[in-house]
Parts: sequence; structure tokens; C-alpha cells
Amino acid sequence: MRLLLVLLLLATAVLIVASFAAAGPPAPNELGRLMILEYHKIDEPEERWTRTPENFRRDLETLYARGYRLVSLNALLDGRVDLPAGTTPVVLTFDDSSPGQFRYVEKNGTVEIDPRSAVGILEAFAREKPDFGRAATFFVLPAADPPNRLFNQPEYAARKLQFLAAHGYEIGNHTLWHANLAKYPEGTVRAQIADAQAFIQRHVPEYRVRALALPHGAYPKNVAWARTGTAKGVTYQHDAILMVAGGAAPSPFGRAFEATRVPRIQGLERELRNWLDWFDRNPGERFVSDGDPDVVTVPAGARDRLRLDLPTNLRVVERAR
Ligand SMILES: [Zn+2]
Repeated sequence: MRLLLVLLLLATAVLIVASFAAAGPPAPNELGRLMILEYHKIDEPEERWTRTPENFRRDLETLYARGYRLVSLNALLDGRVDLPAGTTPVVLTFDDSSPGQFRYVEKNGTVEIDPRSAVGILEAFAREKPDFGRAATFFVLPAADPPNRLFNQPEYAARKLQFLAAHGYEIGNHTLWHANLAKYPEGTVRAQIADAQAFIQRHVPEYRVRALALPHGAYPKNVAWARTGTAKGVTYQHDAILMVAGGAAPSPFGRAFEATRVPRIQGLERELRNWLDWFDRNPGERFVSDGDPDVVTVPAGARDRLRLDLPTNLRVVERAR
């Protein structure tokens, strides 16, 4: 009986290995979809808008093990996907600048990044797995009520924003204090956006804020108000406007990609699990890098699904049938 069991296990193992070998590395498909994950609080306990530090760390491990690698939102918007062949880009975003996202702690007379805050976890993971990458966009609130005002440590607000900008992270606009833009007239919408940018640039002069995450996912009456403009002497221009939901994003090379309607997936146990499983069941839908940042590899016959305004430095290659 025991022998039979061992044989059965062996046979299963052989089958699994054989099926992997037969499948080989996934075929490149740079018209596939990808996940832009959206996190809120990194804290205890796990809740609707909270991921614990342990679970956030586990998300990174899961993504890494399943062949996902970090790209920054701005790189994605520029069509710069510089990843090893066979891997899939994933983008991390954090909304609302809550304390657990980025905290400094004093230890033995020096100040260091709290290893249990999201930035601390990301930094540690990047040291352990340098090929996972280092990237995340923080959609901050410069004048919200505490604890959401710039990560809730006013004495370190400037230092944090400067750290992010200097270490491969990005800073995004989430309005001044999380205003529901659907409720306000043009002047207020523009002021909310311009004031938020001015605050960021006060700490990081000349920093170019390229994306806006809509508070509550609510669009202003006219999306153009959020896209670009000048208010109170500040000129803003957003290359992307991010929603709070919507599932996996279309490839940035694809015609389906809409810069003013960039969907996200919440970084929560069930949502993440569902989408990872969905990509496993639908491997043909998954963005898979060809390993060459200058080439866009698309499935045979799919050239007409490419954006018409593809950056001119990119060469398109159709995969053989
Ligand atoms: Zn928010």
C-alpha cells in the first residue's frame, strides 16, 4: 500500500515536471494585460482597506515566485518595459499617505525607515531579490486631516518625499485633501490638484507629478479639468488618471489603453488571489515580456490591436504562429 502511494506520488511529480518542460517559458505577448495594484493602509489588523505588513510582504513573495517583476507607473506610461524575457510587469500604487506606508523610527540614536512600513518592506525585499525591482507610486495627501497628511510625521514629510523621489519611487497627485471631484465646480477641482502639486514641489522642487489617482474614484464633470491646466500659478499635466477599480489594465502598447481611465486592482487577499488565478487560467491574456525594451512583441496577426501613437523608438515584432 505504502509502495503504491510512493509510486503514485512519483508519477505525479514526473507529470508535473514534464508538463512544465513541454510548456517551456511563456511566449512573449506585450499586448497582454497587467496588474496595477492599489494599496491603502499597511497596518494591523487586516481589514477592508488594510493589509498587514506580513501579508504585504507575502504578496511580494507570491508575485516574485509567479514571475511578476516591478515596473514603475511612469515607465509603463512611457512604454519602457525593461524586464527579462518571460516575466510580467506589475505596478504598485499606494493611496492616501497613511502612516504605515512610510514611517521613520528612532533606534539607538539614529533615524531609520520602519522595517514594518511598506517602504521598509519594499526596501528589504529589493535587497533580497534585486531582480524583483524597486518601484511604487505614492498618491499622497498633503493637507488631509491626520493621520493621512503626508504619512503623519510632519517633521519627516520633506525627507520622505525626497527619499521616494531619489530611490526609484514616484509621487502622484491624490488632491489636496481627498476631495470628491465629482462634487465641485471647475475652479475648486483645479485648485485641489494645483495646490497638491505645489505642496509636493515645495519639498521636492521641480518634481514632475505625472499621474492623478481620483479620490473615491470620482471623476470631475469634465475630465479635462483633471488632465491638464493651470491654477493659482501652478501648471499641472497628468499623463494618466487612475481609477480605484476596474480589474487588470490593458497593455500600454494596446489600443484599449486609455490614459484617462487606468484601472487598478485592490491589494487585498481575495482580489489579488482572483486575478493571479485568472492569469493562470488565461495565460494568453497575460502580458509577457520579450526581454527587449526596444521591441514590442505581439501575437501573430495582432498588430492592428496596437496603439496608433506608439513611441517611435519601438520596433514591433509579430510572434510566429
Ligand atoms: Zn484615496
